[in-house]
Amino acid sequence: MRAMLFDGSSATLYERDLPDPRPGPGQILLDVHACGVCRTDLHLVDRELTEPKRPVIPGHEIVGVVAELGAGVTGFALGERVGVPWLGRTCGQCRYCRSARENLCDDAGFTGYTIDGGYAERTVADSRYCFHLPFHYTDIEAAPLLCAGLIGYRTLAMAGDAKRIGLYGFGAAAHIVAQVARHQQREVYAFTRAGDHAAQQLALRLGAAWAGGSDEPPPVELDAALLFAPVGALVPRALRAVAKGGVVVCGGIHMSDIPAFPYAFLWGERRVVSVANLTRDDGVAFMRIADATRLSIETTSYALSDANRALDDLRSGRLTGAAVLTMG
Ligand SMILES: [Zn+2]
Ligand SMILES: [Zn+2]
Repeated sequence: MRAMLFDGSSATLYERDLPDPRPGPGQILLDVHACGVCRTDLHLVDRELTEPKRPVIPGHEIVGVVAELGAGVTGFALGERVGVPWLGRTCGQCRYCRSARENLCDDAGFTGYTIDGGYAERTVADSRYCFHLPFHYTDIEAAPLLCAGLIGYRTLAMAGDAKRIGLYGFGAAAHIVAQVARHQQREVYAFTRAGDHAAQQLALRLGAAWAGGSDEPPPVELDAALLFAPVGALVPRALRAVAKGGVVVCGGIHMSDIPAFPYAFLWGERRVVSVANLTRDDGVAFMRIADATRLSIETTSYALSDANRALDDLRSGRLTGAAVLTMG
């Protein structure tokens, strides 16, 4: 099979011909149809995530069709379409796993990071961590649901019942979260890179009440701010935009340093929290919403061998919505 490999020596992925992986007990072999390109993949190739398998096949927003079932697999059938997310396995035994917080597992495996992922024609995955996908999305549309949508959903859930939601960084995650928030009768305020009118237009089209640059104050006080841009300087800025009792949720796996700020920004029971990974329950809950709401998924697709160009476009903000590799 053809695959794109990260070997840790540079930020460039190398195209290789590799033997097809074989499904072990509990695993399924998938013919990959599409794989989303997530900002986490950029943090991987930029070596901001420091403990990858080496070499590793990146990609954790995998849509594929079951080509072979390993021993003991239940719940999936040959030929069925399946989604593979970031959380690839957990230990099931640590105190986090035993308290419904498997996203914090001490010994988890992550797809496209510590486990080979979906920048390839084929992959194997532990079937217990895979999801059934809503039928009415194409393969390309379904791919971003698996991280941008799913972890975006967990980020939104951390805002509790906040009514006025600010989204900082309007890319793959935020454009899905905005629609889920609207579906939940919340108001959305979208902050983009200064001057990114394409992203602002997209936000307004998807139901945002306001869209502007992240250097602008919102027209109203927010109840929560969700940060999808990996920019620590946005934390104090977002704190100033949220009302007393409000929360700033950092939705990414990596962020530049947060600059010092006066305690007064945090005063008034404001909180800053991070979101780590996902639980399988998050996935089930989010796929149910994705099934019920017909989210509009904005994508730019690339051939597998163009993965480096997709990463570059994501890095420079040249694309709107989500980048997706297709294996066609
Ligand atoms: Zn565990
Ligand atoms: Zn991701």
